[in-house]
Amino acid sequence: MRTAIYPGSFDPFTNGHLDVVQRATRLFDRVVVAVARSDSKHALFTVEERLGLVRESIRSMPNVEADAFEGLLVEYVQRQSAQAVVRGLRAISDFEFEFQMALMNRKLNENFETIFMMPKDTYTFLSSRIVKEIARLGGDVSPFVPPHVQSALAARLATEKA
Ligand code: ADP
Repeated sequence: MRTAIYPGSFDPFTNGHLDVVQRATRLFDRVVVAVARSDSKHALFTVEERLGLVRESIRSMPNVEADAFEGLLVEYVQRQSAQAVVRGLRAISDFEFEFQMALMNRKLNENFETIFMMPKDTYTFLSSRIVKEIARLGGDVSPFVPPHVQSALAARLATEKA
C-alpha cells in the first residue's frame, strides 16, 4: 500500500489542486489531501471549511481522503505511514521555495521524499490567491474551481461585504 500526502493551505481547493490529486492517484494506492492548520491566520476559510470543500471535491475518488494536520509535516507523514509527499509545480517561481522545503524536510528525516507534479497547462497560472482576487472583483471563477467552491466563495464574500 503506497500512500502519498498532498499538503497545503487549500484556501480554497481549486481545479489545479484537483488535477494534481488525479495525477497522484495514478502513482499511489492512497492519497491524503492534508490541510495545514498552521497557515490559517490570513485564510478566507477556516480549516474545517477548507476540509469540507476538499471532501466534497474528492467525493467520487475512492482512494483519496482529506485530513487536517498541525506541526511538522515530516511527523505527520510518519504517522500516516506515507512513502512520499506530493507538491504541485506550476512555474520557476514555485521552484525555489519548494526546493528549500523538500531539502529541509529531508534534513529532518532522511527518508522523506517529495514528488513534484506539473498540472495540465491550463492550470499553470492558477492559484487560490488569484481565484479569491477574481471572485472579490466580481469575476467568473467557474473555470477554475469546482461548483461548490464557487458557491462557498460567493457566500463568504457576500458576508465580507455586508
Ligand atoms: P501552499 O499554501 O502550501 O502553497 P496551496 O494550497 O496553495 O499550498 O497549494 C498546495 C500545493 O498545490 C502546492 O504544492 C502548490 O504549489 C500546488 N498548487 C497550487 N495550485 C496549483 C495549480 N494550479 N497547479 C499545480 N499545483 C498547484
